[in-house]
Amino acid sequence: MNDVVIVGGGPVGLYLAGSLAESGVKVVVLERKKEIGKEVICTGIIGREAFEKFQLPSQAIDSSIQKVELVSPGGDRIFYTHPHPFAYVVDRVAFDQLLAARAQARGVEIISGIEVVDIRRSAHIIEVTGRENDHLNRFYKAKICVLATGNSFRFHHQLGLGLPQEFVFGGQVELHDDEKHLHRLWFGKAHAPGGFAWQIPLKRKKLKVGLLSSTDTRPYLVRILKKYYPLGKQLPLVHEISQKAITQGIVSPSFSDRVLAVGEAAGQVKTTTGGGIFYGLLGARIAEKIIKQALITNSFQESHFSIYEYEWRRRLEKEIRLGLTMRKFYSLLDDEDVSRLFEIARDNGVFPLVQQKGNFDWHSQLILNLIRHLSHHPRHLPPIFQISWEVWKKAKKEFQKKPDVTEIPFTKVD
Ligand SMILES: Cc1cc2nc3c(=O)[nH]c(=O)nc-3n(C[C@H](O)[C@H](O)[C@H](O)COP(=O)(O)OP(=O)(O)OC[C@H]3O[C@@H](n4cnc5c(N)ncnc54)[C@H](O)[C@@H]3O)c2cc1C
Repeated sequence: MNDVVIVGGGPVGLYLAGSLAESGVKVVVLERKKEIGKEVICTGIIGREAFEKFQLPSQAIDSSIQKVELVSPGGDRIFYTHPHPFAYVVDRVAFDQLLAARAQARGVEIISGIEVVDIRRSAHIIEVTGRENDHLNRFYKAKICVLATGNSFRFHHQLGLGLPQEFVFGGQVELHDDEKHLHRLWFGKAHAPGGFAWQIPLKRKKLKVGLLSSTDTRPYLVRILKKYYPLGKQLPLVHEISQKAITQGIVSPSFSDRVLAVGEAAGQVKTTTGGGIFYGLLGARIAEKIIKQALITNSFQESHFSIYEYEWRRRLEKEIRLGLTMRKFYSLLDDEDVSRLFEIARDNGVFPLVQQKGNFDWHSQLILNLIRHLSHHPRHLPPIFQISWEVWKKAKKEFQKKPDVTEIPFTKVD
């Protein structure tokens, strides 16, 4: 009998497992992949704040980011240098494996190669069935079950949890290239509809090239690869590119009797960029506190776990909502509008504002300050901005709105 069974050995599940075990909680993590960290599709960019706040394993850091080249749809370039390195690029295999090793050293049992296929809840216990090698069933009992399953929502409905409002797609390839490359972001529909593309140089002449989009990323990624990387035969074909859906928007309720969802499985993801590690870790830290209280007081009903959702939404909801509104607005812009924004950014003091208000993980302050700043230059803005004044006002209202915690179901209605 375990105190907690965590389904999913991604960074959020592993971090939560290690933190709980440090306080003596008996935890088992079940991961369907044969090896932790393998076949992960992720660029691994994590803000400095997250590293410091969560004491993340610095041995996994490959490089840091301070300068970025921004490319408009028409090919105009702007170079932005932050006053200091603002984020790290981690090797996700090493990162996940180091989190796993830390958790194991604290007593967590991590079992890989087990796919959870069933979760049953009774008044006193949670029973989880895991399948090994597609046929062998294994059974695990616990007082609490945490779903840290990333973008897999297989058990949410059955256990009374909500589902995400929508998804975007993220695709990525890793290249070997002898040339020296900069950190680069491409914008505009021609590059990435409803999103953006990136190039992240790594040590040892490697390069991650990826794309976030509201549609299939692969044809766009191939176009970027062909245009910017003269590597000929080494370039992957469309079907060789891995892509993944990324949760967008709050998943509510993110709890029920004896069950909590954390990380991407709860929608704890930045809706502007699709980055989910930092918000997921924040969610895990709140979950840790609530789970420890539940075990001490023997309170496993949803009325106790609702505090978890109240607390994480209080911290993250405004950012998630505002980011979603802004990304949707951005996806309405055509390439001419985006190029015009590049011109405005170059001339109108936007970058000093980014230096002052920009934060890698918290985007709302910068978004609102940019809106205020640009509203002083309405004549220079593309026509869609004049028409979309309503969207701008809505974005501001979203931010001012308090999280609507009354919609969190505190008691179960049978
Ligand atoms: C192309 C791309 C680039 C990205 N770049 C970044 C970035 O630079 N920075 C950033 O912060 N985020 C980035 N993300 C998002 C980030 O990868 C995720 O938000 C993050 O991994 C979420 O962590 P998690 O632990 O919640 O879920 P995951 O990392 O998805 O882990 C969930 C785990 O649960 C396991 N699982 C699921 N179902 C079962 C089951 N039934 N039984 C057993 N195991 C199960 C899965 O195998 C998986 O290992 C990117 C995403 C994509 C697609």
